[in-house]
Amino acid sequence: MDRLISFEVFPSNTQDDFTKLVATIQELAKLNPAFISVTCSNNNQTIDQITIKVANYIKNELGIETIAHLPAAYLSKAQVKRTIENLTRLGIYHVLALRGDTLPNLKPVHDFLYASDLIIYIKTIAPEFSISGACYPEVHPDSPNRISDIQALKLKCDVGCDSLISQLFFDNDLFYEFIERCQLAGIDVPILAGIMPIVNRKQAIRLVQTTKTNLPRKFLAILEKYEHNPKALGEAGLAYAVDQIVDLLTQGVGGVHLYTMNNANVAEHIYQQTGALFATASCFGQEK
Ligand code: FAD
Repeated sequence: MDRLISFEVFPSNTQDDFTKLVATIQELAKLNPAFISVTCSNNNQTIDQITIKVANYIKNELGIETIAHLPAAYLSKAQVKRTIENLTRLGIYHVLALRGDTLPNLKPVHDFLYASDLIIYIKTIAPEFSISGACYPEVHPDSPNRISDIQALKLKCDVGCDSLISQLFFDNDLFYEFIERCQLAGIDVPILAGIMPIVNRKQAIRLVQTTKTNLPRKFLAILEKYEHNPKALGEAGLAYAVDQIVDLLTQGVGGVHLYTMNNANVAEHIYQQTGALFATASCFGQEK
């Protein structure tokens, strides 16, 4: 992997949405990403097919690497095996192995209590697969503390996770502290920094509620000052994300994974502002 930027898209349920998503992906493809990953809902089966359909388009119609997200809390081993076989038939050999969020009113199947169980299973049935995992610079919300979270992450890597993609964050210092914890724990796989450009206030509020991400003073000030000025908020949000990326790449972080929210314009803007920086570094921390 010699390019440093990658994108996440989320698939849609209707044919109309799919057509729109294809147009978005075509625009993202022009930015020469290392890969485009495709999210997957964790209430299984039908959505799973949509993820595979979109990943197939990226890989086989556009010739761009793709990663299919695979949350498994509600999947049985047989279902995971079928998914892996379907991906193999399409020539897709890379998944983001996830436990997925557990829903309060729906008991998990229990074949995969943690992402590491899923990784062990995939490595057994399809050792040729590349497996990425999720990581949380600000600690996973279910974790009792940082130590237990980093121990679980180390286990995930020890059983076969080849690279990590981070949860989004707005405070780079927290990401650098996390990288240090990983190094101390002996986690040495590449870690992509997850960045989500915030272009509207509703999106910011929803995010904070779902991810419990820390919002630095500078970021909160943007939300407050431009509360009633969506255009200014959008521009300030993009500038904030550009600033984060400039700092990350300058500090030698090896790659940035952009949560695009299916908005190609946002990705284009970010790329226009930071493309030269991406061109002067090689993946995962080593300057060219
Ligand atoms: P795990 O790695 O299993 O960790 C879950 C919790 O269990 C953590 O607190 C961890 O510390 C703990 N833990 C792990 N292993 C052990 C162990 N052996 N013993 C004790 N404790 C342990 N969700 C979706 O539904 N669909 C998606 O497409 C999706 N994409 C995502 C992409 C990224 C980059 C990220 C960061 C998250 C994504 N999620 C997605 C959300 C994710 O599914 C949730 O955050 C979920 O709650 C945790 O999944 P995980 O794979 O990180 O779980």
